[in-house]
Amino acid sequence: MDNLAFESGHDHQHCIDQALQQARQLCRERQQRLTPVRELVLKLIWQSHQPIGAYELLPALAEAGFNSAPPTVYRALEFLQEQGLVHRIASLNAFVGCPHPEQSHQGCFLICRQCHSTSELDAAPVRASLEQSAHAVGFVIEQETVEVTGLCPNCQRGEGRDA
Ligand SMILES: [Zn+2]
Ligand SMILES: [Zn+2]
Ligand SMILES: [Zn+2]
Repeated sequence: MDNLAFESGHDHQHCIDQALQQARQLCRERQQRLTPVRELVLKLIWQSHQPIGAYELLPALAEAGFNSAPPTVYRALEFLQEQGLVHRIASLNAFVGCPHPEQSHQGCFLICRQCHSTSELDAAPVRASLEQSAHAVGFVIEQETVEVTGLCPNCQRGEGRDA
């Protein structure tokens, strides 16, 4: 799946369709249940490439007739994270869909400080370099989500969406 987060005017419905299709297939293969509430939360997170906070999901859940108590949302988010379908962006305390959930990985993210669009990078080269530096000082890395802040191409051109 292509990562189109910074491509303005791309066919985002395609991103959503592909993400949902991928999630259904992965859950089937892993014999995990993508329940309606889990699927809806995933779909809501994929509404854009801008990470969304757990509390922002509640109104849409209520509207769809689900129990919109925070624990319901947190359980769904936990499941989606376990399956690698979404990542938590710590610096924004929000969640974003993973474009390649088939392989377990830790994320490396470029986050636009203006529109909050977030693009996931291939973390492998970053990991290798971090591991080397850590090893040199005798440090063992346990968790290494990398979040980099800056300006996306659209915002550099003054075309970014408002956050
Ligand atoms: Zn998209
Ligand atoms: Zn990912
Ligand atoms: Zn931007």
